[in-house]
Amino acid sequence: MNEPLISDISRPGRKGYSLHSSDLIGTPHSQLIPAKFLRKEPAALPEVPESEVVRHFIRLSSLNYHVDKDMYPLGSCTMKYNPKINDETSSLEGFAALHPMQPESTAQGALQLMHELSGMLGEITGMAAITLQPAAGAHGELAGILLIKKYHEAQKSRRSTLLVVDSAHGTNPASAALAGYTIVSVKSNEIGRTDLNDLKEKLNGDVAALMLTNPNTIGLFEKEIVAIADMVHNNGSLLYMDGANMNALLGITRPGDMGFDVVHLNLHKTFSAPHGGGGPGSGPVGVSEKLIPYLPVPVIEKMESTKGTHYHLTSDCPDSIGRMMNFHGNFAVLVRAYTYIRMLGAEGLRRVSENAIINANYLLSRLDKAYSLPYPKPVLHEFCLSGDLQKKSHGVRTLDIAKRLLDYGFHAPTIYFPLIVSEALMIEPTETESRETLDRFADAMLQIAKEAEESPENLLAAPQTTPVRRLDEAMASRQLNICCR
Ligand SMILES: *Cc1c(COP(=O)(O)O)cnc(C)c1O
Repeated sequence: MNEPLISDISRPGRKGYSLHSSDLIGTPHSQLIPAKFLRKEPAALPEVPESEVVRHFIRLSSLNYHVDKDMYPLGSCTMKYNPKINDETSSLEGFAALHPMQPESTAQGALQLMHELSGMLGEITGMAAITLQPAAGAHGELAGILLIKKYHEAQKSRRSTLLVVDSAHGTNPASAALAGYTIVSVKSNEIGRTDLNDLKEKLNGDVAALMLTNPNTIGLFEKEIVAIADMVHNNGSLLYMDGANMNALLGITRPGDMGFDVVHLNLHKTFSAPHGGGGPGSGPVGVSEKLIPYLPVPVIEKMESTKGTHYHLTSDCPDSIGRMMNFHGNFAVLVRAYTYIRMLGAEGLRRVSENAIINANYLLSRLDKAYSLPYPKPVLHEFCLSGDLQKKSHGVRTLDIAKRLLDYGFHAPTIYFPLIVSEALMIEPTETESRETLDRFADAMLQIAKEAEESPENLLAAPQTTPVRRLDEAMASRQLNICCR
């Protein structure tokens, strides 16, 4: 953490490059901008040669942890390796230099890409139509719930409750509340699935929909999904799928075939756009036939005529919920997802999920003797362990285990989520990790379990090897200057 600020390494007169004055094209700014808006003094920009700029940022990037550095087993977040070709295609000038307000006739390639991506996501999910507008998973949830609301309004049916299973991601009840619903929690049973008796009890004429994650946040498939869909539909309610865990299902099974009416995807998880640093995401929403009239506008239509194919944006949808985003969503993420799907093809996508499942079960089989396993194996693409054993016998918490992992060079798993598992450690290796990497991670976890027994103080004092030591987490997320100088 001794890296100085770039303004501190600035020295007057040092330059990255210089332009010969004859290279400057066009009218000088001083003639274009009214004098009152012009600076009196030159901007105090750092003056640093290119070599030092590059080294400065490379050093900073290595202080941080990222998927290009090593395994990132953050459960529920699908931190897979993001192929570099995605960045290559999304920065092609024809995509990157488009202006969202330029005439439709000059953006046909972009519209075609979005139209085709919607088609591919529709095929992957088994849904009748897809909107690409929402900016992230949670935003997709909000869009999906607004669609559900509009549907019931059109049926003249007044319903004010949404059911959410107790293992759900926190965004589910938050999105439901934002859309104005009252949330009722449905219990999980002893095998980590939705408790059908509890669901039956809570289904009544006021329930607009049930929100379900499949596979759920413990990495377990809802085996009774067809029965659940029937119960919900017989009640006149709709079924919403949180599709953040789609990495387990690609080419194997589809939400549409399970009876879901709405599903959101996280392109930045399953379809490999970089995320985790607050960068742009994308949360497309797929719907069944009966919700199509309510989709956000504009909708992309493919028109065939004697002059050829033309893609057209229409907002002529009187029942639409309106816009969810300015313009068309996070387009560069759509290009990345499109590239990813085209690179893999249908067979490749299925192998993604098969390998994600194999990797999770392999890792689990190496760890389930050292840590307690709250729900029986096998799992799909991720699993949840509990640090209960270590807490009861040795007085170390899951937080200490997670912090110690940083000393072994790994990002920590998701901890204390889902809420139904005490001292939860939620691990998702993803398909992009090799057997050797999984073994290195398993060895570190086993070593930590041994340390918990023999030298718990190592865990309590962790991390020791990171740029900063253990932080007051509440403070660190509010006061971003964590530099220890
Ligand atoms: C990530 C995630 C979400 C929220 O998605 P964002 O893209 O982060 O808004 C919702 N549900 C589950 C299960 C998730 O893992």
